[in-house]
Amino acid sequence: MALHIATPLLASTAFPVRPGARVWLKMEALQPSGSFKLRGIGHACATWAARGARRIVASSGGNAGLAAAHAGRRLGLPVLVVVPETTSERARTLLAREGAEVCIHGSSFQEANAHAHGLLGPSDAFIHPFDDPLLWEGHASMIDEAAADVLPGGVRFDAVVLAVGGGGLLSGVVAGLRRQGWNTVPVFAVETSGADSYARSLAAGERIELPAIASIATSLGARTVSQHAFELARTHPITPVVVSDHEAVAACLRFMDDHRVVVEPACGAALALAYREEGPLAAFRNVLVIVCGGATATVAQLQAWDAQLRA
Ligand SMILES: *Cc1c(COP(=O)(O)O)cnc(C)c1O
Repeated sequence: MALHIATPLLASTAFPVRPGARVWLKMEALQPSGSFKLRGIGHACATWAARGARRIVASSGGNAGLAAAHAGRRLGLPVLVVVPETTSERARTLLAREGAEVCIHGSSFQEANAHAHGLLGPSDAFIHPFDDPLLWEGHASMIDEAAADVLPGGVRFDAVVLAVGGGGLLSGVVAGLRRQGWNTVPVFAVETSGADSYARSLAAGERIELPAIASIATSLGARTVSQHAFELARTHPITPVVVSDHEAVAACLRFMDDHRVVVEPACGAALALAYREEGPLAAFRNVLVIVCGGATATVAQLQAWDAQLRA
């Protein structure tokens, strides 16, 4: 039993495109946990449950923690999420709503993560937010679904746009594209400035570690991307793109008006590239945008960021 849902593929008329071109939206924001993460984390949790795990432990106060909490509840397994003191009240509330036990420990993700590892018992499954082949396998299902929704005239997507944090979504999407034989379909991997560990690593030719995350798009806030995501750029056409925090937030607000769905700035980063009047997407006719979602930003928060960043 899959814990995620099949999401709609929408042909959007809201984005600036050349005549005859189209933007297609894979609406992962509609997953029950609020983001695409339920695909991979649901698959990982179900796999661990089948292997006999008795409890799920996670250390993300964001969408990964929410996906683990949702998956655990559906599987009938207790979930422990260890988060740092910096985790927002909003995120804690959402985790509690999913019935997870929330343990607050330390002043940073690193401290909470270390504490979570120290609490692991022999029958616990630890869920990593992005660096796990089980996650990539689950994420890849969104491409299988999009491919099964045959486009008018039988055409296929000729570019994919997505957001990159630690690279789990990217790894899953590329796995899905390969499964379809779409090995040459270019992927635009978007980050916000200040959370651009992927773009910087590709530019440097080696994985770099950001000293700190300096972006409001906290769901993109992996200081280092996974080795797998880094190496994928050698075998798949992947173009890193960096947008500003303000572009990402403005894209969230515009998308809310256009499609009546609230997403986090992490997702807004990918939308911002699609909203650009000029740019690399102008060369393509059927662009697939992964609307990855995110549950932790409220409308009031998006509006407050917009006002701040505009100033
Ligand atoms: C986790 C997340 C991302 C980034 O995914 P990675 O697998 O870490 O690259 C982007 N957007 C949202 C909403 C997320 O929750």
